[in-house]
Amino acid sequence: MKTIKKDLTLTLKDGAHREFRTDDFWRTIPAWKDVSKEEFSDHMWQMKNSIKKVEQVKTVLAELCTEEFYQDMLDGQHKTPMNIRITPYVFALIDWKDPVNDPLRKQFLPIGSQFLPDHPYYEADSLHEDVDSPVPGLTHRYYDKVLFLPTTICPVYCSYCTRSRLIGGSTETVEKETYGVNTARMEAAFEYIRNTPQVEDVVISGGDAFMLTSKQLTYIGESLLNIPHIRRIRFATKGIAIYPQKITSDHEWFNALCGVHQMGKDMGKSVVVHTHFSSPKEITIYSKMAMDRLFAAGIIVRNQAVLQEGVNDSINDMVLLIRQMEYMNVQPYYVYIHDMVPGCEHFRTTIAESVALEKAMRGTTAGFNTPTFVCDAPGGGGKRHIASYEYYDEENGISVWTAPNVKPGEVFFYFDPIRKLSPEAQARWADPMMREKMIADAKAKAGF
Ligand SMILES: *Cc1c(COP(=O)(O)O)cnc(C)c1O
Repeated sequence: MKTIKKDLTLTLKDGAHREFRTDDFWRTIPAWKDVSKEEFSDHMWQMKNSIKKVEQVKTVLAELCTEEFYQDMLDGQHKTPMNIRITPYVFALIDWKDPVNDPLRKQFLPIGSQFLPDHPYYEADSLHEDVDSPVPGLTHRYYDKVLFLPTTICPVYCSYCTRSRLIGGSTETVEKETYGVNTARMEAAFEYIRNTPQVEDVVISGGDAFMLTSKQLTYIGESLLNIPHIRRIRFATKGIAIYPQKITSDHEWFNALCGVHQMGKDMGKSVVVHTHFSSPKEITIYSKMAMDRLFAAGIIVRNQAVLQEGVNDSINDMVLLIRQMEYMNVQPYYVYIHDMVPGCEHFRTTIAESVALEKAMRGTTAGFNTPTFVCDAPGGGGKRHIASYEYYDEENGISVWTAPNVKPGEVFFYFDPIRKLSPEAQARWADPMMREKMIADAKAKAGF
C-alpha cells in the first residue's frame, strides 16, 4: 500500500496574492481591543506585549480561551522542547474560533494533544551541527560556507525549532544553556574564519539576527566583511515574518543593517537577509511595508520555509505563499522537508508527498522564484534536492542519500513519519530487529 494521494489541483482565486490584510485585526483580541494602529505598529509595544507564558494566553484572550484549550496548552508545556514566545502580531493573526487547526497556532503554541511519539531515529542534533563544529557556535560542513550562531534567542519561538537543543530557555523536557551574544565565543569564530581562507560565505543565524543589538549587528558585519576572503554574508531572521514592526519602526537597527549592507557594497561584497515565512496567514500589509523598506534600501531578502502538515502542505497554500512573497520582492529560496528533531512528528510529511507538492508547484510562477525543495540529510549530509535520493522504499518510508562533495563515501537516511505508513509497515517499524533489517535492505538496494 502506498501513502494516500492528496489532491494537488490548484484552485487559487485570481489575484489572491495581491490582497494584503489591512484591517485592525488585533482588536478582536479582548486585551487589545483599544490598541491603536500607532501602538500596534511600534516594535517596542510588540516586544513589551509578547506572550511568554500559557497563563498570559488566557489573560489576553479572556472569554475567547476555552477551558479545554487552556488545559491542552498546559499539557503541551510538559511535552514541548521549546518554551513559548509570541509577538502580538502573530498571536492576533491566529483564528481563535478554531485554534487547534490554525497554522500559526500550530507553529508557535504547542498543545498536548498534538504530540506523537518521536520517531526511533530522532536526534536532538539531527543535522550534526555540533559534530561538524571546529569551534563552539560555528558549523563548517560545506567547502566554502559556514554557519555562525552568535545568539540563542529569538523574538518568537517556533515549537518545531531544528535547534531546540540550544534555542530559547529550558523546558520540562530539555535543559539548555541559553546565552545572548558571547564575545569570547564570537572572537573564536572570527579567528577560525580568518584562518580558513576557503570560506567565502557566512550565514549568521542563531537564534535570530533580530535579537542582535544594532551595535552587535554592526560589529559582526564589519568584522566579517573585513576578512579579505569573505565575499558573502547573510543575516538570518524570522523577524520579517513574525515581527515586521522591527523593520518599519526600529530605525536604529534598520540603519545598522543598511550600514553593513553599504559597507559590503563599497567592498564589492554581498550582504543579504534570509527570512522564514511559512504560511500565507503570516503575511499582511505589515509584511509588505517591511519588505518595501528593505527593497528600497536595495537589500535582497530570500525565504526558507519548512514544509509542515496543516501549515503549508496544500498546493493552494504553498502557491499563495510563494506568489505573495514574490509580490513583496522576497525570493523563495528553499522549502525544507521537516528535520527529524524531537517533538515534531505531527508536522512531518513523507518524501513522496514532498516530491508531489514540488512537482505540482513547479511552473506556477517564475523559475527564479520557485523554491528548491530540500532534505537536510540527518547525520550531516547537508541539503539535498528532495528527489535526489539514491533509493526510496516508499512502502517502509526509508530514503537513502549521499553527498559526494560534502561527505564523500558516507550514506545517509531519512525516514518518513510512521503514522503515514501502511498498518503492515507500521508493525514492522515496531520491531527493532525488523527496523534494522529494513534499513540494511534499503542500503543494499541503493548499492551500498
Ligand atoms: C544551510 C547551511 C549553510 C548554507 O547553505 P546554502 O545551501 O548555501 O543556503 C551553511 N552551513 C550549514 C551548516 C548549513 O546548514
